[in-house]
Amino acid sequence: MILMKNIIREGHKTLETVAKEVKLPLSQADKKCLKEMLQFVINSQNEEIATQYELRPAVGIAAPQINISKRMFAAHVTDFDGILYSYALVNPVLKSKSKEIIYVPGGEGCLSVDRETVGITPRYKSVTFEALSYDIESDQLIPIELHLEGYVGIVFQHEFDHINGIMFTTKLFNELPFAEPAFHLEDENDTI
Ligand code: ZN
Repeated sequence: MILMKNIIREGHKTLETVAKEVKLPLSQADKKCLKEMLQFVINSQNEEIATQYELRPAVGIAAPQINISKRMFAAHVTDFDGILYSYALVNPVLKSKSKEIIYVPGGEGCLSVDRETVGITPRYKSVTFEALSYDIESDQLIPIELHLEGYVGIVFQHEFDHINGIMFTTKLFNELPFAEPAFHLEDENDTI
């Protein structure tokens, strides 16, 4: 089980390293990593479990954050229409992106960043990822294409940045004149 103490924090070299492609077929260790990352995010959103294990609420986590420098991440996030996006992804590739830029008002958060940050981070309004999705139930890797917009797209871009060694703290701006907020501040916003 992944706990907060297993998550490395900003300043650690792995967080600034471009992660390596995952070799296929998946090793037992990689399967365990994918499963545990997704479980961590789900657990972190369960008030009882999060309190018991002192987990920070999160919507995503990437393998480099647990000091595994491989191209894998998990996200479990519901959009404002109530649609759940729950994935453990392997070797994702960003296939296309919109010209329009959006941002999380109030700024993003990260399990690897303990301090308060100031500023907003530019993200594409819509993105398409191709990836292999690890289905835990069937133990299968399924090729998928994900078209993501708005806040959910931001979550996946934040995690995708992690596997490229990019922290959101290196992309903080006081204002983005041509960008739109992804939602309004009164809406919920967990740590990405
Ligand atoms: Zn992060």
